[in-house]
Amino acid sequence: MNGKKKSDLAVLLGYAGSYRGLTYLGLALSAVAMVLGMLPYICIWLAARDLIAVAPDWTRSVGVARYGWLAFAAAVGGIVVYFCALMCTHLAAFRTATNIRKQGMAHLMKTPLGWFDANASGMIRNRLDGAAAETETLLAHNLADIVGTAAMFLSTLGLMLVFDWRMGAACLLAAVVSVAAMFSMMGGKNAKLMAEYQAAQDTMSKAGTEYVRGIPVVKVFQQTVYSFKAFREAIEDYSAKAEHYTVGVCRVPQAVNLTATEGAFIFLVPAALLLAPAALQSGNFALFVTNFAFYAVFSAIISTALARIMFAASGTMLAHTALGRIEQVMNAPTLTAAPNPQTPMDNGVAFKDVSFTYDGAQNPALDHVSFRVEPGQTVALVGPSGGGKTTAASLIPRFWDVTDGAVEVGGVDVRRTDPHALMERVAFVFQNNRLFKASILENVRASRPDATREEALAALDAAQCGDILAKLPEGVDTVIGTEGTYLSGGEQQRVALARAILKDAGIVVLDEATAFADPENEALIQKAFARLTEGRTVILIAHRLSTVVNADKIIVLDSGKVAEEGTHDELVKANGLYARMWADYNRAVSWKITSEEAK
Ligand code: ADP
Ligand code: MG
Repeated sequence: MNGKKKSDLAVLLGYAGSYRGLTYLGLALSAVAMVLGMLPYICIWLAARDLIAVAPDWTRSVGVARYGWLAFAAAVGGIVVYFCALMCTHLAAFRTATNIRKQGMAHLMKTPLGWFDANASGMIRNRLDGAAAETETLLAHNLADIVGTAAMFLSTLGLMLVFDWRMGAACLLAAVVSVAAMFSMMGGKNAKLMAEYQAAQDTMSKAGTEYVRGIPVVKVFQQTVYSFKAFREAIEDYSAKAEHYTVGVCRVPQAVNLTATEGAFIFLVPAALLLAPAALQSGNFALFVTNFAFYAVFSAIISTALARIMFAASGTMLAHTALGRIEQVMNAPTLTAAPNPQTPMDNGVAFKDVSFTYDGAQNPALDHVSFRVEPGQTVALVGPSGGGKTTAASLIPRFWDVTDGAVEVGGVDVRRTDPHALMERVAFVFQNNRLFKASILENVRASRPDATREEALAALDAAQCGDILAKLPEGVDTVIGTEGTYLSGGEQQRVALARAILKDAGIVVLDEATAFADPENEALIQKAFARLTEGRTVILIAHRLSTVVNADKIIVLDSGKVAEEGTHDELVKANGLYARMWADYNRAVSWKITSEEAK
C-alpha cells in the first residue's frame, strides 16, 4: 500500500513540473508552523515550573512574563508561517491541476476522432477536469497536513522523552496501541476486504446510473423488474460488505483505537502513581507535578495527530482514484504523425485491401475492402445497416486508422500525410454533426476560422439556409440553443453543409441523413448537396437510393465486404443485392405515394 502511495505522489509531482520545488517549500513551512504551534505549550510548562519552584512567594519568579511573550510570538508566528505554507502548496496545486488539464488536452489532440464517439465528451471532461480538481485537495491541504502533523508527532516524541522519559513512555504506549489497532483494520487480508468494499460501492453507483438512464425504457416498455433487480442486488451486496467490514472487522479494533487515543492518560496515571513515592523522597515533588501536568496536556496531542493523519490519508485515496481516471485519458490511443509527411498528388481516394476491427469487437467491421475513387468522381456507398459504410467513410479523415491494408488520398497513405493538411483536404458531414452553442456564423466558420463574414454568408446561401436566417431573431448572429432558437434536424444538416462548403476542401465525405426527411427540407438539402459536391471528389453514404442513381460508381458493402461494384444500370442488370434493394426501395416509395394520395 505504501509503495503505491509513493508512486501516486511521484506521478503527481511529475505533473507539477517546475512547481515541484514550491510544493516542497510549502511542506517544509508547514512542518515549521506545526513546531512553532507547539512552543506555547512548552512556554506554559516553563512558566508553571518557575512558579511552582518559587511558590508561594510568586514575586520571586522573573521569567513568567518573558515566557508569556514568547508563547504569544510563537503562536502568531506559527499562524503566519502556516499561511505562507498554504500559499505555496495552493499555488503549486493549482499549477499542477492546470498542467494535468493541459497535458490531457494535448494528448486528446493526438487521439483519433473516432475515440470521442465511444467516449462521450461529458465523461472525458469529468474524468480530466474533475480528477484534476480532486488532486488539488491532496496537494494543497492533505500533504501539508500530513507533513506538518508528522513533524508535530516527532517533536512531541522528543519532548516526551526529554522531561521525564518514564511518563513519556507511558503516553507513547497509548499511541502504539492505537496504531496497532489501526493497522489491524487496514492491513493484511483486511486490505482485500477494503478493496472489495470499494468495488461494491463502485458497482452500486454504476447500477444506480444505469437504473436512472433506463427509466425512459422502463416507462415505454412497462418493464420494471430487470433494471431494478440489478440495482437492488448492487445495493444489497454493498450493504452486506459494508456491514461485514464495519461490524465484523472494524468494531473491536476501532473501539480499542478510540479508547487509546482519546484516553491517552490511561497509562499515564498508573505510571505517575508508581513514580510518585520516589519523587516525594527525592524532595523534588514540585517538578514531578509540573511534569505530570505537562504530560496530561500533551498526551492529547497524540490523538489529534493520529486523527489528522487518518483524515489526510483518506485524501490520498481520493487522489489515487483521481489519478486512475486521469490515466485513462492519458492512455487513450494516439495517431502517429509521420516524421516526413508527404503531400497527396490529387484528390483521388483509394482503399487498398483495408480491414478494420473496432477495439474489443469480435468481427471486423471492414474485411479486405478495396475500391478507387478518381479525382472529381462521386462514389456512393450503399448496403444494409451495419455493413460498414460509416466505418469506411471515417477511415478517410483518420477518425480511425486501418487495422490492415491502407487508405490512400492522392496516392499517399493517409498515415504518411500531415494530419492538419489531411484535415484541410477532407470535409465531412456526418449524421450526428453537432452544432455548437454559438452563433450560426461562428458555427459555419468553425471549419475555416479565418473566413470573412461575407464568405460565411455566401456558404450559407449556397447551402440554402436563407429561410433559416430569415426566421431567426438576430439572423446569422443568433446563438443556437438559447431560448426559442432550436433548429430542426434538417435545418441543422443544412448549416453543417454550409460549414463544409465554406471549408472548400477537395474531398467531401457525406453520411446522408434519412431521419429528417420532411419533403421541404429534403429538396433544400438536395440542392445544398449539389452545391457542395460541385467539382469535388465525393464519397456519399446514401440511404435513399434515389440520390445515388447518378453516381459515377456505387459500392455495395455487406457485412464489411464489397458485395458489388458498378454504376446503377450495371448493378440493376446484375440482379444482385443492389437490384433487390432498388426493387424494395421503389416499392416503398410507391407505397408511400399511394398512401399519401389516399389521405
Ligand atoms: P453502416 O454505416 O453501414 O450501418 P457501420 O460502419 O456503422 O455500418 O458499422 C459496421 C459494424 O461495425 C457494425 O457491426 C457495427 O455494429 C460496428 N460498429 C460501428 N461503430 C462501432 C464502434 N464505435 N465500436 C464498435 N463497433 C462499431
Ligand atoms: Mg452508418
